Amino acid sequence: MSGTSAEYDVTVVGAGPGGSAAALTLARKGVKVLLVEKAKVPGENNVSGGVLYGDFTKGYGLMDLVPEFESQAPLERKVLSHEINILSAPDTRRGSYQRYHLDGNSVLARLGFFTVEIQTGHDYTVIRSEFDRWFAEKAVAAGAVLMSGTTVRGLLTEAPQKEGEARDEEGEKEPAVLGVNTSRGDIRSKLVIDCSGVTSKLVEAADLRGSLGPRQLYHAIKHVYRLPKDEIDKRFKLREGEGRAINCFGDFMKGVSGSAFIFTNSRSVSVGVVASVDSMVRAFTEHFDVVGTLRDVLETFEAHPYTAELLEGAEILEFSSHNIPRGHVAMLKKPYASGYLPTGDALGAFIKIGPLFDGMRRAIASGIMAAQAYLLASESGSFRASNLSRYKDMLSPLYEDVNRSGRESFFAESGFAYGTLPRILFSSSAFSKRVEFQAPTEPQPAKSPPAPDLADGPSARITVDLEAASKSSVKPWVPICPVGCFSLVTKKGAFVSYKELYAANYKAVASSLVNQSGLDVLAYRETAKDILEGTLAFDGRLCVGCGTCGEIGPKELVAFEPEEEGRGVRYSFG
Ligand SMILES: Cc1cc2nc3c(=O)[nH]c(=O)nc-3n(C[C@H](O)[C@H](O)[C@H](O)COP(=O)(O)OP(=O)(O)OC[C@H]3O[C@@H](n4cnc5c(N)ncnc54)[C@H](O)[C@@H]3O)c2cc1C
Ligand code: SF4
Repeated sequence: MSGTSAEYDVTVVGAGPGGSAAALTLARKGVKVLLVEKAKVPGENNVSGGVLYGDFTKGYGLMDLVPEFESQAPLERKVLSHEINILSAPDTRRGSYQRYHLDGNSVLARLGFFTVEIQTGHDYTVIRSEFDRWFAEKAVAAGAVLMSGTTVRGLLTEAPQKEGEARDEEGEKEPAVLGVNTSRGDIRSKLVIDCSGVTSKLVEAADLRGSLGPRQLYHAIKHVYRLPKDEIDKRFKLREGEGRAINCFGDFMKGVSGSAFIFTNSRSVSVGVVASVDSMVRAFTEHFDVVGTLRDVLETFEAHPYTAELLEGAEILEFSSHNIPRGHVAMLKKPYASGYLPTGDALGAFIKIGPLFDGMRRAIASGIMAAQAYLLASESGSFRASNLSRYKDMLSPLYEDVNRSGRESFFAESGFAYGTLPRILFSSSAFSKRVEFQAPTEPQPAKSPPAPDLADGPSARITVDLEAASKSSVKPWVPICPVGCFSLVTKKGAFVSYKELYAANYKAVASSLVNQSGLDVLAYRETAKDILEGTLAFDGRLCVGCGTCGEIGPKELVAFEPEEEGRGVRYSFG
C-alpha cells in the first residue's frame, strides 16, 4: 500500500445527503469519522429536481436529525402539495390543448392508480449545491473530518483466503473491507459507509451485485432557469415563501416511459424529465421517426404552451444529467458485507411513485441507519457481515416502500398509463379541460450545452471499443448520450440522433421519388440500414459523467469509470 495511511473508525464515501447524515450521526456519538468527497466543495456537482421531504419514518427523517433545519438550512420554497398534469399535444390550428389535472381528489387517485400526495408538511425545494454544503458543514461542526477534492477509487480488502482456511472465529470466508483507496492514498478504517450514489463502483467491489442495467435505471436531465422572485410568485400563483411541485406526462413524452417536472426555487425554476433507460433505448432505436433523444423530449415539454407560458423570458442557467436507481428492481437484497455498508442511491433506495420522486430523504434515513448499525456492531467490536446484518432489519421501512412502488409502477409506469390513458382522457371533454393559448411567435433559443473548456478534457473515464461496438446493429449509445458524445458516422454525415438521420433520409427519398406514397416506410428502412452499416465515433469532451453509456454496456464494448476530483454532471451557461 502506498500514500498516506490514516486511522478512522468509519470512512464515509460521498458528502451527498446520505453521507452527511451518516457522518453527522456518528460524529455526535464521538466516533472518529472521515467524510471523503470527490468534489472540491460538497454538493458542487450534485443534481436533484428537487423536493426534499423533511420527515420520514420516526427517528430517520431530517427533522429528527436536525430538528431546527427549517430555520437553518438553505431552503428555497415550502412545497404544500404536489400536482400532476396529463397534457395533450398542442393543437396549433385551434390554438388549444387539453389538460387533465390530477390531485388527491381525482378519481384516478382515489381508485389508487396514482399516488399524488407524499408530502410530510416539512417539504422544501432545495438547490443541492447549497443544501449539501450546509449539511456537510453540520457534520464537520459535530466533529467529522471532511476530505474534499478526493476520489475514492476502490476498496482495500483482506488478502483472498486460502482453500480450507477459516477466516476468523465467526467462520466467515469473504475477505473483509479494510478501508478505501483514494486519489490521495489509502485510508484504513473499521467500516466503510458507501454514500457515493448511483455510480458507486464500491458496491460491485464488495461483491454485492454487478453493475446496474437499463431496466434498473432511470435517467434524468434538467434545465435551471433564472426568473425574478415576484415573477415566479405571479406566474405560479404563490404567496411569500410558497413553492409548487408540478409533474406532467402525456404526448410530449413521445412514447418514452417517464414524466417531466417543474419545481419552483426562490429565484429560479427547475425543469426536467425522468425516464426509464430501457424505454429510452427502445424508443430512440426503434421509433426514431418519432423521437431522437431525451433532450428532444425535454425541449418538446419546454415548448409546450403549458410550460412555455411559465418560462417565458426566463434565462437558462444550467444543464445537468444524472442516473437514478429504479428502487424496486435495483435495491440490494443483501445490503452489507464485512466492513462495508451502502446507503441511498448506492444501495438503490430511490423510488419513483408514478411521476413523484423520493430519493433524498431515503438517502438520509439509510445514512442514519448505517451509522446506527456501526454503533450496534461496535458494542461487540466486530464489523463482520454477520454482525452488520441488523442493518437490513433497520432498512425494512425502505424495503416496504420499494415493494409498494414496484406494485404501483406496474400500472403507473405502464404503456397503458403513459399511452392509452391520456388518449381515453382526451377523447372526451368530460374528463379534461381545453386550454386556449397564443402560439409563440418567437423561435425557441437552442438549449444545447455550451462548448466546454477543451483544456479540461473528458470528465469521466470512458473506454470504447469502437471497432467492436460499430458491429452492434442498433448502437444504442448514440441516441442515449444526453450530450451527444457518441455519433454514427455514415456516408451521409455524422449523426448524434437517429431522428436526424431519418429526417435527412426522408428529405432525400422525397426529392428522388415521383410517387410520394410510402415515403416514411422507405426512409425508415434506409435509416435502419444506415444504422447497421454506420460506424461509431466517440468524443468525450462534452461528457457530463452520467454513466449511462457504461450501464447499457456491455463492459467489453463501453466501460465507464466516474470522473475524479469532482468534474461533473452539470454545465453552467453564460
Ligand atoms: C433530476 C433529478 C431529480 C430528482 N428529484 C428528486 C426530488 O425531487 N426529490 C428527491 O427526494 N429526490 C430526487 N432525486 C433523487 C435524489 O437526487 C437522489 O436519490 C439522492 O441525491 C441520493 O443521495 P445519495 O446521498 O445517496 O447520493 P448523491 O446525492 O448522488 O451523493 C453522492 C455523493 O458522493 C460523491 N461521490 C461519488 N463518487 C465518489 C467517489 N468515488 N469518491 C468520493 N466521493 C464520491 C458525489 O460527488 C456526491 O457528493 C432526483 C434526482 C435527479 C437526478
Ligand atoms: S459519454 Fe458521458 S455524458 Fe454521454 S452517456 Fe456516457 S457518461 Fe453520460
